[in-house]
Amino acid sequence: MKTYEMLINGALGGAISGETIGSINPATGEVVARAAWGGEEDATAAVDAAEAARGGWRDTSVGDRSKLVSRLASRLRERAGDLATLETADTGNPINVMTGDVFAAAGALDYFAGLGTELKGHSVPSTAGGLRFTLREPYGVVVKIIPFNHPIMFSGAKIAAPLMAGNTVVLKPPPQAPLSALLLAELAADVFPAGVLNVVPGPGATVGHALVTDSRVRRIGFTGSVETGKVVMREASAHLADVSLELGGKNPLIVFPDADVEHASEAAVAAMNFTWQGQSCGSASRLFVHRSMREEFVDRLVERVEALKVGLPDNVETEMGAIISSQQLERIMSYIEAGKQEGARLLTGGEQPRGDDFARGYWIAPTVFVDVTPQMRIAREEIFGPVLSVFEWEHEEEVIRLANDTEYGLTANIWTRDLNTALRVIPQLEAGYTWVNGRTEHFQGLPFGGHKQSGQGSEEGLEELLSYTQTKSISMLPGR
Ligand code: NAD
Repeated sequence: MKTYEMLINGALGGAISGETIGSINPATGEVVARAAWGGEEDATAAVDAAEAARGGWRDTSVGDRSKLVSRLASRLRERAGDLATLETADTGNPINVMTGDVFAAAGALDYFAGLGTELKGHSVPSTAGGLRFTLREPYGVVVKIIPFNHPIMFSGAKIAAPLMAGNTVVLKPPPQAPLSALLLAELAADVFPAGVLNVVPGPGATVGHALVTDSRVRRIGFTGSVETGKVVMREASAHLADVSLELGGKNPLIVFPDADVEHASEAAVAAMNFTWQGQSCGSASRLFVHRSMREEFVDRLVERVEALKVGLPDNVETEMGAIISSQQLERIMSYIEAGKQEGARLLTGGEQPRGDDFARGYWIAPTVFVDVTPQMRIAREEIFGPVLSVFEWEHEEEVIRLANDTEYGLTANIWTRDLNTALRVIPQLEAGYTWVNGRTEHFQGLPFGGHKQSGQGSEEGLEELLSYTQTKSISMLPGR
């Protein structure tokens, strides 16, 4: 069985302790492959390497940086099949969407590779005797920490901006599914000069903690839960590293009475991201349906949810796969129990699907609750599982209040054919990204980031690139 290695200072190798772990296939409970398992000393070695490489990479022209970042994109495309297969086995996500994640990673690398010349400063009105202008400089060592739901997409996409901005990077993959990031490390090992990209898998409490608290790390980009994001921010404050946070969501989808039931119910299922078993920050897990159409809408919704093909992730027909781990399964089931106990009505799902395919691994059928009220836990907390809560509403100001009644503010969706409704409602929704008649698609260049406790900063656009730079002001006078 293969053991995937970490990447430090341009060399692939094992952990200093020699430790490895078997990474589990969530659909079967079997070990997919082994992974080198880092500790604090590996994290420190990676920062040593990134620190040593930062001067050379800073002084590499944006043209040359761009070539290397694009080369990694090409390598990912060449190995898209292998990456998708490995990712499917390691995450439980269906194979039919995994190639898309690999191409999204490659697309983001190419997008940022093309933005190098946007790393611009500006000049201020200068006198005859002097010039005053700014430069955008890299921070130096950047740490990127990513969650389990899209490991290969995030491993590629989230290193692109800091590398292009001239920073060296230490990437920490998710402990539940580290393998695709380590295959990316293999593909990247001879692309960049030693130390420019380092990949160290391991537990958050040791590797993550060591990276965040290392005072040589000047900038941290974290994607994960609100809870861990707060820990990261608190710990990074000891040496005042700059931190950006892409955190959780409890996202509303509001269906207005003029929406078409067919299209809107299809979108509500797509926007819930059942494809990733609902393990998606952007999942529209709170669905607000207008009272006038509630019955017809909910009937259609449940039909669609029950038609989803839940199955083994490596089957190309599968539309929804396995839950990442037994802990996550238990967590989701505890929310389903809470929903029932607090008086919500379970219309479908809520238990393991039936059939031989589900005898092993971690499974929950796609689940829909109705009669959900705002105080219930399933209405307030991010479940990060395939559980959709349906609310009923009558008046516009009421639904806007309900939609905003959460600590989260990641995304929002509205379905209406009335332009005036959209124009009126969009500014009132407390969310970083709003779709009108959409399905939670992302568009490279359109920034993605949370308001309120869903995060700080935004990614996927020019702002992300610039956020990995700091400004230097220069006042230049003639020599005498
Ligand atoms: P998590 O917070 O448990 O873990 C995320 C990462 O942080 C992992 O790599 C983990 O090992 C690491 N970590 C844990 N403790 C740490 C510590 N003390 N110091 C440093 N690093 C530490 O999140 P998860 O369960 O992997 O992912 C699910 C969460 O991620 C959800 O809340 C989801 O909404 C969020 N998410 C947000 C976005 C976004 O773009 N906003 C995208 C995907 C996922």
